Amino acid sequence: MKISTPDKLAELLQNSVAAIALTGAGISVESGIPSFRGAYGLWTRYDPMEYAHIQAFLSNPAKVWKLLRELEDIISKARPNPAHYALAELEKMGRLRAIITQNVDNLHQEAGSRHVIEFHGNARRFVCLRCGRAFDPETLNFDQLPLYCSCEGLIKPDIIFFGEEIPVAANKAAFELAKACDLMLVIGTSAAVMPANHLPYTAKNHGARIVEINPETTELTRRLTDYYFDESASQVLSEAMALLPGN
Ligand code: NAD
Repeated sequence: MKISTPDKLAELLQNSVAAIALTGAGISVESGIPSFRGAYGLWTRYDPMEYAHIQAFLSNPAKVWKLLRELEDIISKARPNPAHYALAELEKMGRLRAIITQNVDNLHQEAGSRHVIEFHGNARRFVCLRCGRAFDPETLNFDQLPLYCSCEGLIKPDIIFFGEEIPVAANKAAFELAKACDLMLVIGTSAAVMPANHLPYTAKNHGARIVEINPETTELTRRLTDYYFDESASQVLSEAMALLPGN
């Protein structure tokens, strides 16, 4: 795969009328949130089936909360980085229709992006598994874990565990956007998690060109990507933004 340079990305964005982004954990690495896979990934210390499967949470919530609290501690300190801000700016400029994110860290929203599809939920929200009641983190006491609702149901962060369905509305909106886009920026995802990794294939099958921004190649790079950028998300996006007219 030939490696593209930021001027190509600026040109693609300028010529697109319906660009969208699909983001993954990699876009938030420069904000201090480790990805799950890779050398420093959380899965080097936690077995995903023991800590991130819904059955694991149901059978031993106190154990799973150990990882959840560690994640919460990291996420609460993280701030958006130039890549998040660049996508927010592209939306304001009318050059990006929406972001579909696999991340649960809320950093796109904090950077100012408005049209964000949360494909895997959001760690800033909590929900009762029995009655569906939603909770703000400020109203919960994390000193006594696991957390229970007044209906005695288990409270869980509103994130999608392995073994859970993607929220219907987010799934529908994401696939509709993928079918309608003419350019998809796939940023910081290993494209290993289903069904999110079907979105680039859907976009391509409906005529979109696929841009991939990731220092490491993925299955998509080999099979699908039209333009591959091998630098960090903030570097590629910041350089491309500087080349766009109006900046
Ligand atoms: P992943 O961990 O499987 O892959 C991350 C990818 O990002 C890798 O391919 C890596 O090469 C790339 N990357 C690393 N640094 C980068 C950078 N600076 N710029 C661009 N790319 C970079 O992540 P995934 O594909 O998103 O799948 C993991 C799942 O775990 C997702 O469902 C996600 O919800 C969840 N997760 C979320 C967060 C978060 O909310 N920030 C963090 C970890 C995991």
